[in-house]
Amino acid sequence: MMRPLAEMQAEVLDSMPLLGEIDVGFADAIGAVLSRDVDAPEDLPGFENAAMDGFAVIAADTVDPGVDLAVVDEVAAGAVPSVTLTSGRAARIMTGAPIPAGADAIVPVEMTEGSHEGLVRVLEAASVGDHIRPAGGSVKAGARVFNAGLRMRATHASVMASMGVRPRVWRRPVVAMMSTGDELVSPSTPTLKPGAIRDSNRTLMQGLLTDLGVEVRDYGIINDDVGAFETALEEAVKDADAIVTSGGVSMGAYDIVKLALRDRGDVGFWKIAMQPGKPFGFGTVSDVPFFGLPGNPVSVFVSFEQFVRPALLTMMGADRLFRDRVEGVLDDGADTNPGKTVFVRVTTVRDSDGRWHARKSGGQSSNVLSALAFADALAVVPAGTGRVEPGGTVELEMIHWPEARSRREALGDR
Ligand code: AMP
Ligand code: MG
Repeated sequence: MMRPLAEMQAEVLDSMPLLGEIDVGFADAIGAVLSRDVDAPEDLPGFENAAMDGFAVIAADTVDPGVDLAVVDEVAAGAVPSVTLTSGRAARIMTGAPIPAGADAIVPVEMTEGSHEGLVRVLEAASVGDHIRPAGGSVKAGARVFNAGLRMRATHASVMASMGVRPRVWRRPVVAMMSTGDELVSPSTPTLKPGAIRDSNRTLMQGLLTDLGVEVRDYGIINDDVGAFETALEEAVKDADAIVTSGGVSMGAYDIVKLALRDRGDVGFWKIAMQPGKPFGFGTVSDVPFFGLPGNPVSVFVSFEQFVRPALLTMMGADRLFRDRVEGVLDDGADTNPGKTVFVRVTTVRDSDGRWHARKSGGQSSNVLSALAFADALAVVPAGTGRVEPGGTVELEMIHWPEARSRREALGDR
């Protein structure tokens, strides 16, 4: 019996633990997930300040363009104004400097004429509030800024930095990974002996894990030997918060991951109603979450995307787990298995009709790694669908919104 994909995904997510909260440095929080809501302890900006280099004035003094005002102070960013403005006076001021008492507008330098002999000529009337950034204009004291569950990007961490609020995040998992198979040799092997192949899955898994911001422990290539696999597992459960393996979970005589774990009770081996990525082992080994991915490289990717990525993000405390999907047109159609959710590897372009258009990026067998590398998206053909006619509509799961625009497209001939 095959298990529906969503049902298995829910089971996986339900069993993911959190790893405890830690305080981290601002930049170290990037990629981690906030464990607490963040409220602003104070206004941002904390004081009203100039948005432009220019002159702080009383707007009412400037209704007649060409008026000369006496320059009575100069306020740099970081300085404190020493003069209260009264009618007929102005203070030279730099971007970010506090607004002098009495002033209610900034006239940008460009709107003035040389401040000679202590005078500045204002060429255009100012309105109250012009080019003044109010206190709390970015964030008000007490306001909810971020919710727990947010995976922090550089921009979020910089907001925390500006508020001086140290990020409290969920600890990120250490993830052990290994590939299994007697046929595997190091990717650095120049000449392959008959039957051997280079291990590509560990490079793939390492990259996908690194993208998630987890710490990776590489256990290398494990031979198709139950004892060797058990030894590696024993080490891994001591080291890691989660374990990801490739290969050995299927029906073959040497599928040692399955042979080693099948009867221990804590890991189930499933046939998932998806393609690629049908065989999948999941459970715990000594209480450590275990993901037994298939061996075929494209299956590794799809299984990682559908199970491991959302599961590790759950472990990291994130509330957004799944990649963005957009509606698109499958220009070349697909003949898919109606019993399974099929992830078709496609390249995408946004056409002049404003829609996303997709085409298969190459062969759709689960060993054709190159077609995966060429793909921008997985076209999702849900179980129960079967054939998609050329020009039919599909959901596109964008696996890496590509840097799609060349220099020429973005900048023209410049
Ligand atoms: P398995 O599930 O172990 O039977 O592997 C399925 C297929 O994936 C076989 O053709 C393997 O040779 C291939 N395979 C397994 N592991 C890797 C790997 N680490 N890198 C590349 N191909 C692999
Ligand atoms: Mg194998």
